[in-house]
Amino acid sequence: LLTKTQTRTTKQRKIILDELCKVKTHPTVDEVYDIVRKRLPRISLGTIYRNLEMLAEQGKIKKLEIDNQRMRFDGNTDAHSHIRCIICSSVDDIEIEPKVIWEEDSLESGYQILGNKVEFFGKCPKCRMREPE
Ligand SMILES: [Zn+2]
Ligand SMILES: [Zn+2]
Repeated sequence: LLTKTQTRTTKQRKIILDELCKVKTHPTVDEVYDIVRKRLPRISLGTIYRNLEMLAEQGKIKKLEIDNQRMRFDGNTDAHSHIRCIICSSVDDIEIEPKVIWEEDSLESGYQILGNKVEFFGKCPKCRMREPE
């Protein structure tokens, strides 16, 4: 039998996961906090952070290190690439087939390559609209 605290923790984690899977914005911890607080007004930032770390460890969400300063989280765990706007820092998924570039390299370098990460940056449609051409 679960204790009351365990039940609450499980429920909190489920809500955090739910909310993260609903958004496509790749939110930071603070942004997840703002979203989840609408459903759990008494939750703390520390609890959000701990749960996100745990969900990432379990492979249910992805931790993204895109802009170096702030950790972002992604509810979409399928392999996909991201593009970051250099003006407003928003992060979106990008549909580009990653080329197979590492099969031969793996022989030359002696490394067993396990994966690669391609990040794109540019200007998002909103920022482009605001800019005079
Ligand atoms: Zn932008
Ligand atoms: Zn993504």
